[in-house]
Amino acid sequence: MNPPAIVILGEASIPISRQIQAALPEALVYGLADRVQSIVITYDNFGETVRELFQAGTPIIGVCAAGILIRTIAPLLSNKWQEPPVLAIAEDGSAVVPLLGGLQGVNDLARQIAAVLQVAPAITTTGDIRFRTTLLSPPPGYTLVNPDDAKTFIADLLAGATVKLFGEAPWLENSRLPIAEAGKLTIEIIHKSQSQPTSTPSQDCLVYEVDIDCVEPTQGKLAIVGTGPGSAVWMSPEVKQILESATDWVGYKTYLDLAEPLRKTHTTRHESDNRVELDRARFALDLAAQKRTVAIVSSGDPGIYAMAAAVFEVLEREAKPEWQEIEIQVCPGISAMQAAAAQVGAPLGHDFCAISLSDILKPWDVIAQRIKAAAQADFAIAFYNPVSKQRTWQLEKAKAILLEWRSPETPVVLARNLGRPGQTVTVKPLAQLAIEDADMRTVILIGSSKTRIVQQRPGKQWVYTPRHY
Ligand code: SAH
Repeated sequence: MNPPAIVILGEASIPISRQIQAALPEALVYGLADRVQSIVITYDNFGETVRELFQAGTPIIGVCAAGILIRTIAPLLSNKWQEPPVLAIAEDGSAVVPLLGGLQGVNDLARQIAAVLQVAPAITTTGDIRFRTTLLSPPPGYTLVNPDDAKTFIADLLAGATVKLFGEAPWLENSRLPIAEAGKLTIEIIHKSQSQPTSTPSQDCLVYEVDIDCVEPTQGKLAIVGTGPGSAVWMSPEVKQILESATDWVGYKTYLDLAEPLRKTHTTRHESDNRVELDRARFALDLAAQKRTVAIVSSGDPGIYAMAAAVFEVLEREAKPEWQEIEIQVCPGISAMQAAAAQVGAPLGHDFCAISLSDILKPWDVIAQRIKAAAQADFAIAFYNPVSKQRTWQLEKAKAILLEWRSPETPVVLARNLGRPGQTVTVKPLAQLAIEDADMRTVILIGSSKTRIVQQRPGKQWVYTPRHY
């Protein structure tokens, strides 16, 4: 291939062309005759020069607007197998835009230039994207033995060749590479200790050396994460990162569906019924014991009526020896009561408690006693699991207990589907609280005797519990 041509329009682009030459020492600088003095090769007509270079198969690095290059070359575009690399570089070096020549390594050129200019190349159409993997920059622990062969190898892949894989590399197995047993091309993974590859590195065979200590997790991991009530903006960056890097997600289908946009191709979903929490916890621990990176997904906060306690319960009760080495982490999320409170102001602004009205895991007597004590102590109260299809009477009973201690005017917040489609939040006096107001996707906040409603302007009210008595 001819040495690349750096084509500039004016003297101002000399410094940037020198920087590009630092990455590509063989490149020649072309400058417009009457505008540029300090140039090796001058030209009179930009369009003609660029078209000649293009037809001669010379890689073109234009320090100019992408549009100028596109319009200049447009009449010649007919065969993408033959076009040389064409890139546009912003005059101040802030952008490196590969335009043409994907099969001739334009993206590699863009990367090389972008590296010296210290910017990210604007790569849009590459094997990297098509195959969801970067053969040229493998993950930590893997080194490509024959990078010089990769250009042709990738061009063959893009042209439709299939590839057979020798050795283990999850990042390749989980990519969209066209892996086939009878592949024309070969990728071989060899261990660092293994001195010779079985295949010879070539343009048809990429060889990666793997340092096993850097690759295989030495420990299984189990993260119990809370995704918040629903909306992605209420999910912590830590939880996002864990969901994206996990090999397995375990959880109730609805919660996994909410997180689905974050799921990478390498991540397997394991759905379960919402009621079998202990089975789910045991399953996740067993997966992590096989050195996998597992995320158990709860909505809201995982420590509030959710999976974290279930995991520790199973861990304590069953204490399997293979669970001992698992690295367990709990990642908090915004709980429904916090999201509900934020929608209306600060109803939990002073002492408060949370009570689940579900009597599946504890008897109603205990719940009733707890509601009474909380009402008597003048806590603001968050009711979780207020009603379900099977449980319809508990909320009425709870209301009756509350009314023994609280005024019928006490503000009550009913928040349904927080952060999800169909979110509704209503405020009404305790006396008007009715079963129909709630379902299993509703959290209810009951004010204390001090909780107040303030009018900010007509039609806009807030609920808050003062911090001073
Ligand atoms: N770990 C969750 C609670 C799970 S218990 C959390 O911290 O939020 C399930 C109960 O939580 C539901 O019955 C409902 O009362 C409440 N809840 C969970 N998500 C909700 C949402 N998006 N909107 C309103 N209430 C919700």
